Amino acid sequence: MFSRRELLAMSAAGAAMVSSGAQGATFGNPDEPPQGAINTKNASSLSDPGPQNPALAKQFPSAQTPPATDVGGLPMNWASFNNAPRRIQNGGWARQVTVVDFAISKEISGVNMRLSAGGIRELHWHQAAEWAIMTYGGCRITVLDVQGRPYVADLKAGDLWYFPPGAPHSLQGLGPDGCEFVICFDDGHANEFNTLLVTDWLAHTPPEVLSKNFGVPAETFGKIPLHNLWIFQGTVPGDLAADRAAVARHAEAPPYPFVYSLGSSAPLKESAAGSIRIADSSNFKVATTVAAALVTMPPGAVREMHWHPNADEWQYYISGQARMTVFDTGPNARTTDFSAGDIGYVPRNLGHYVENVGDTDVQFVGVFRAPRYEEVSLSNWLAHTPPRLVAQHLNIDEKLIAQWPDTSPGVMPKT
Ligand code: MN
Ligand code: MN
Repeated sequence: MFSRRELLAMSAAGAAMVSSGAQGATFGNPDEPPQGAINTKNASSLSDPGPQNPALAKQFPSAQTPPATDVGGLPMNWASFNNAPRRIQNGGWARQVTVVDFAISKEISGVNMRLSAGGIRELHWHQAAEWAIMTYGGCRITVLDVQGRPYVADLKAGDLWYFPPGAPHSLQGLGPDGCEFVICFDDGHANEFNTLLVTDWLAHTPPEVLSKNFGVPAETFGKIPLHNLWIFQGTVPGDLAADRAAVARHAEAPPYPFVYSLGSSAPLKESAAGSIRIADSSNFKVATTVAAALVTMPPGAVREMHWHPNADEWQYYISGQARMTVFDTGPNARTTDFSAGDIGYVPRNLGHYVENVGDTDVQFVGVFRAPRYEEVSLSNWLAHTPPRLVAQHLNIDEKLIAQWPDTSPGVMPKT
């Protein structure tokens, strides 16, 4: 039995052969030798007698039957939190995708974490900078900057935080149901399961040194944990103003907030086709090594063909069903499907678009290891090139070129 998709592909192949009579090298079917379902002439060239995993295959229609425009062998650019093992403790859990699991992801490693109401991610620090986006609930963060200035804030879904390398911090779930968020480290090797923990250091310091260091008797530390806590259940934090007053003591406040409300910020681009919101060091001053673009688009819309000159793009799909094709020299073109909880990756300067192929809004965030967000729009480039020059390249009438967008729309609607 053939799947509906295979039958559709075969009937499309038949239609193409009737209309063009050609085997390949036609519009939408460029390659020689011909590739893609459209070029098969019998059912068994396309069917897959097995073994199969239908549940998994269903999530990757573009791998099962790539568009005839796909070619070559670009490396895997899909990963997911959905199949990453959760490290579960009382108070919450975390799972991660680092470059060890996802070879292409050299600039960013990703962590997905849940904290219960009162659940605490232990006071810690690490080598990499930490950027995060809240996807659910409420979270209280604490951080001390490298000038010794303390900061405490509460975050909601759509909010970001950024902690510079080495800045010590904590995270705690608020009521009524804690929180969930995604962290990006600006280093593909960074590992949430191996951070510098306050409990580990105190347990591995001689008691007499602790006594001198803090100016109190060694017995003060008699009941400290001998093993680290990492994530543990605490009590739900009280009033934010009280915590802010408690941490101030003799210190000054940092000049810029360590949080930014990206989800409720004014979009850089907005139309019926969707919106793009940007957070980088121009508006989120402390985020000197990570920039982000939050994209929301309705069914059928396409995040226009573009590339990023200054960094790889690490994508986290928050909702919906999307399909992305990445283009590289060769030529190479690879189309991949993404669902909520999945991760995509595009090396810098490689062309790509993202299409909403589902029935609901697609929302994803692109994260870049760069101080500023940068993109080049294909249509904007061609619209700002002498039309006669473009016409000679593409064999398209100048009057039609004049209709192309000349404002980098970001997202284009369903046609
Ligand atoms: Mn951290
Ligand atoms: Mn992009």
